Amino acid sequence: MPTFVRADGRIDIKSLTLAEIEAALTGLGSERFRAVQVYKWLWQRGVSRFDEMTNVARSVRELLEERFYIAFLEVVAVQASIDGTHKFLWATEEGHRIESVMIPDDGRNTLCVSSQAGCAMACTFCLTGDLGLRRHLRPSEIANQPLQVRQRLDAQYRISNIVMMGMGEPLHNLDNLLPALEIYLDEQALNFSHRKITVSTVGLVPQLQKLAESTPVNLAVSLNATTEEQRREVMPITRKYSMQALLDACRELPLKQTKRITFEYVMMAGFNDSLADAQRLVRLMRGIKSKINLIPYNENPARAIKRPADGVVRAFQHHLVAHGLQASVRITRGRDISAACGQLGKADPDAARVEGTSIAAIRIRREGEGYDASRFAFDDIV
Ligand code: SAH
Repeated sequence: MPTFVRADGRIDIKSLTLAEIEAALTGLGSERFRAVQVYKWLWQRGVSRFDEMTNVARSVRELLEERFYIAFLEVVAVQASIDGTHKFLWATEEGHRIESVMIPDDGRNTLCVSSQAGCAMACTFCLTGDLGLRRHLRPSEIANQPLQVRQRLDAQYRISNIVMMGMGEPLHNLDNLLPALEIYLDEQALNFSHRKITVSTVGLVPQLQKLAESTPVNLAVSLNATTEEQRREVMPITRKYSMQALLDACRELPLKQTKRITFEYVMMAGFNDSLADAQRLVRLMRGIKSKINLIPYNENPARAIKRPADGVVRAFQHHLVAHGLQASVRITRGRDISAACGQLGKADPDAARVEGTSIAAIRIRREGEGYDASRFAFDDIV
């Protein structure tokens, strides 16, 4: 696993797993059991200084202080929506802005977590894609989001679920995601059940397979289209992993008996919301343990894309359900604070003046910027 070292030579201890802290401490001549103590102070108490770790011997605390530092995200702003949704704007050490969104709903509190500053996937309809990839988040930054939200919100907002559906493509950052998931799941750290954690992806096939082999968390795939051509138009990653290859991989994933893959389907008026789309979607889902989550497009000034009328969404859902699929419609939350799906990282207040914001215009502009089939081949994605 990569280690993260600050300019002063100290290591980001919160990016280490328990096993790595153990190895580091024993390597420095300290007893092995100290690692669990330190780990609990970091993730259960959320301390910011080593000298708060009162049951750890002073000599060990001094050693820790010399070699390591305790990372926190800087809180830039917390906004509350009229519907109870809270958006947290954080800054990383170098000042990259990232966001997390807490969505309270009927006794559940779901935290939507970011995995990267910006995103490289360039889905034409998504505003985070406009930023491009700024940087992969470290394990400490992925795991600090729920820790720091816990520290700031009242007990009434105790986080029950985590969805990796904030900024970024989590599987593009798998090396840092896996240790962060370990911290989420470890009962000596954040202690979430794997049933309450969902990782959402555009569909990076080998990484999806590796994730399913290495952790039991829930999987969600952003499908968003029903033909290869249509999906290429909105999700350029389809040029690297075809929809067929993605769905074949989903069919074969080693899932626990009770698990289903969630397929997210952003509905865009006149683009992918026809009866023919619903019929194709039913066929595509054959042989896959799936549930469909329909997400009516969240309109924004930077795109000419429209949300389909409610009746269209309901008819689409009805067709899926009538053909034996599980299908729900995601209710938009936090729109007034730009916290809804696809709104994170919305930075440019002048966006409304951008001309030509249809799906095709954005795709053509992206291709002009080098996001075409040959140059934007996702070569760095193994
Ligand atoms: N990169 C991962 C994690 C982000 S999840 C993934 O794509 O799955 C964010 C979800 O919001 C994705 O399903 C995406 O398709 C959806 N989305 C993006 N922009 C949206 C918008 N304007 N309205 C509704 N959903 C949107």
